Amino acid sequence: MHFLQLIKRFVPPYRGLMGLNILFNLLSTILSLFSFAAIIPVLKILFGLSESGVSHHVLSEAVGMEQWLQFAKDNLYYWLEQQTALHGGGYVLFMLGLFLIVMTGLKCLTAWLANYYMVPIRTGVLRDLRRQLYDKMVSLPIGYFTEEHRGDVMSRMTNDVNEVEASIMSALDVLFKDPIMILVYLTTLFIISWQLTLFVIILLPVAGFFIGRIGRSLKRASRRGQEQNAEILTQIDETLGGLRVVKAFNAEQKLRERFLRLINDTRQTFNRINRRYYLAHPVSEFLGTALIAVILWFGGVLILRGTSLIDAATFIYYLVIFYSIINPAKDLSKAGYSVRRGMASLERIDRILNTPSTIRELASPKPLERFADEIHYDHVFFHYSDDRPVLRDIDLTIRKGQMIALVGQSGSGKTTMADLLPRFYDAVSGRITIDGTDVRDVRTRDLRALMGIVNQEAILFNDTFYNNITFGVDTTQPAPNGMTWPEAVEQAARIANAHDFIMATPEGYNTSIGDRGSRLSGGQRQRISIARAILKNPPILILDEATSALDTESEKLVQEALEHLMRDRTTLVVAHRLSTIRHADLICVLHEGRIVEQGRHDELLALNGYYRRLVDMQSAK
Ligand code: ADP
Ligand code: MG
Repeated sequence: MHFLQLIKRFVPPYRGLMGLNILFNLLSTILSLFSFAAIIPVLKILFGLSESGVSHHVLSEAVGMEQWLQFAKDNLYYWLEQQTALHGGGYVLFMLGLFLIVMTGLKCLTAWLANYYMVPIRTGVLRDLRRQLYDKMVSLPIGYFTEEHRGDVMSRMTNDVNEVEASIMSALDVLFKDPIMILVYLTTLFIISWQLTLFVIILLPVAGFFIGRIGRSLKRASRRGQEQNAEILTQIDETLGGLRVVKAFNAEQKLRERFLRLINDTRQTFNRINRRYYLAHPVSEFLGTALIAVILWFGGVLILRGTSLIDAATFIYYLVIFYSIINPAKDLSKAGYSVRRGMASLERIDRILNTPSTIRELASPKPLERFADEIHYDHVFFHYSDDRPVLRDIDLTIRKGQMIALVGQSGSGKTTMADLLPRFYDAVSGRITIDGTDVRDVRTRDLRALMGIVNQEAILFNDTFYNNITFGVDTTQPAPNGMTWPEAVEQAARIANAHDFIMATPEGYNTSIGDRGSRLSGGQRQRISIARAILKNPPILILDEATSALDTESEKLVQEALEHLMRDRTTLVVAHRLSTIRHADLICVLHEGRIVEQGRHDELLALNGYYRRLVDMQSAK
């Protein structure tokens, strides 16, 4: 089993806790042996099975374990018989009962303590897994998430992690405890009668074979089940995202049917998984009881013939211990199935954790502290994973302080071209340099620190205005120009035309903006994201259709804010409204991934080509 690998992978940080857990499990098992042992004298008293010849004697020479046990037993029995003779059987039974209660109390206490130290291991491993996944998610390149379904990634982070908790982690206590119990019990059985125990052990592999067979397909079925769980999340995500369209097109029925098919299939899969899973218990119980029957017959015959090496009462004790092995064995086989089920989920989690990042960093990246001179797209080619060329031979130099505009039809590659600069993707061939250094040779962190990006869709977080604006800066450092951070934030918001509407909210900058800024209008959201860029104060600015989703009224406010933002910066603008880039230092017209025309507004108009047509189309509107 992969159990040892699991331990090696997850448990090391919790070594101390695991040690305590094992210690208390061991104590608890040994205590339970003692409490069971009370049964022998009880039987002897009840059935008058007392052996003659037991006498009080002392230990003189150095002796082995076996003699010592014999000595302890003999003296105990001798003492019990004396007590019985003195006070009667009832008194001794009472004392034995008291002994049983105390021992069981101690046993239960230690069992609880074992679990007490197990719980933080379980929750800790779960936390570690979630942290690893989140860290990985944040570090993976953007491209990964356009390839994978969002619902699938979410499912792996939630459903699969929960499944690991429910199956592997809940099996952990069994996996730590039961092997100890079985080992201790088996050892005891050997000490009581090794002949009988040897006979039992030969039968064990037969039982193991049956139990092992059932679990085999469990993992495969579980993988299927988790894939379906992921599909459920994907469909929910899709439906929630498109609810407006769903209702507008009266498509509820269609979606409901699609979803119903999926959840019915999922139900079938989980029927299969759980039915098989529940086989573990009865199968091992049946096999265990069958074993007991065989032992009962075998040992009983030996005793009846008078050839046995143990007496009847000890044989009963033997059976009790053997019966106590069955429970942990049952749980162990169930836990084994659990782990199999969980392994399918763990593999799905690992597929995310082991995804190599396609945006790689050098081991010792070159320093990049400021932008001094120029950005150069040096014969850049690019395609996404589907191999269809998206950018072809892009060659462009952007000097410090310039405003460069990219225009072209939708799908011509403008966003892609802008995305290459902060290394959201890497060029397939050719390179992009900043002041002569390849962007792949510097630390991505340094690279992105030089840039401010405002997209068509303002991305805000469910937090206050203040925290959304300070998102890109380190507020533990002093604010610029001797201001305090609140002053700097307010200044940025004023420049971004956001101050007034922020102040109109109940708590001003401390107002929470709601889930992804859903309580704000598109223009307000955009002005917040511009304030964020202003506060970050980057030398390079990338504006990708920042105003295209807005109505004319708020577009004017946002455009004004953008113009403040662009002042004294190097800007790459993807413009949807051509009037806003009339004064650009250079306009590049992209067509099917190529720069087909470049120049200033007037020059391009004079060319009477692609640019002219774009302008004409817009003014015709
Ligand atoms: P623009 O911004 O000019 O509208 P894009 O750069 O967004 O164009 O897209 C250029 C081309 O690349 C389009 O044909 C688009 O379908 C394709 N594309 C964009 N993003 C991806 C992606 N993540 N995977 C595959 N193809 C993509
Ligand atoms: Mg675009």
